[in-house]
Amino acid sequence: MRLVLFDIDGTLISSGGAGLGALQRTFAELYGFADAATGIEYHGLTDPIIVQSIARARLERELDESEFARVVERYLDHLGDTLRESPGFRTLPGARELVEELTARDDVALGLVTGNFEPAAFAKLRRANLADHFRFGGFGSDSHDRAELTRMAVERGRALSGANGSAIVIGDTKHDVRSAAAAGLPCLAVATGNASLEDLRAEGARWAVPGLEDPLVREALEI
Ligand SMILES: [Mg+2]
Repeated sequence: MRLVLFDIDGTLISSGGAGLGALQRTFAELYGFADAATGIEYHGLTDPIIVQSIARARLERELDESEFARVVERYLDHLGDTLRESPGFRTLPGARELVEELTARDDVALGLVTGNFEPAAFAKLRRANLADHFRFGGFGSDSHDRAELTRMAVERGRALSGANGSAIVIGDTKHDVRSAAAAGLPCLAVATGNASLEDLRAEGARWAVPGLEDPLVREALEI
């Protein structure tokens, strides 16, 4: 049994700005900033890091534990709305076919490695009708450190499925490539997010492809 671990944003789906929109609404509601998340780097970063970056930029301090919990609660609430309303939301080309094909195999366990808080991850996957394919993962709610949550996804996947074979991460940013490497895993990088094929190659991705329909994906996954 092998583990195949998917990132979500820019890899399986594009939320059409729903995540950013929910952050904007949250900081507007709680702190009165109209465009709090504008200009904040968020691609490939974990939700807790993004939230604290916004707080540092706008409030000039980090949120304490109870404020952070309140922000997360409001963010998840707004995200339900922004996902529903997002006209640009889409499942990326080849994602559904690949996930369905992998689910049908009995030598692969499918998991998630994502910076999203766990409920946000599943809200996005439900919107894409992909949630039922994933039973475990590592999430931004587990750690702000992507390498750490990658290790947690592997541990959980092995415990749940009895997998003792290889594991691979599929993601769209340099952070996916780096944290996979830090967890001792190869990364199949897809240039469907914010990073170019050249950047992903330069970062040391073992495979880099323009999209999930590329034939090299199935070769890399040995399917
Ligand atoms: Mg991503």
